[in-house]
Amino acid sequence: MKCKYCDKTFLDDDNLVLNYFEHTKISHYELLDDEDKIMHDIREKMIKSKIDYDQFKKEIGDSDLVFNSNNSDIV
Ligand SMILES: [Zn+2]
Repeated sequence: MKCKYCDKTFLDDDNLVLNYFEHTKISHYELLDDEDKIMHDIREKMIKSKIDYDQFKKEIGDSDLVFNSNNSDIV
């Protein structure tokens, strides 16, 4: 995948989307118009929260166990 604004290319791996967003933010954020900036921020937040969630699942392991223990607190 190639950057829309310069010649930098990105490896097609698991971090591709996040790497691309980081690069756009660092190198080309001023080139985005207001609407693109808003979209960029929203999509970046969504991507990061998904990554955090995947990481969380990996660390916790059995998510059902956590869900059940959370439920028992409410009851
Ligand atoms: Zn670029």
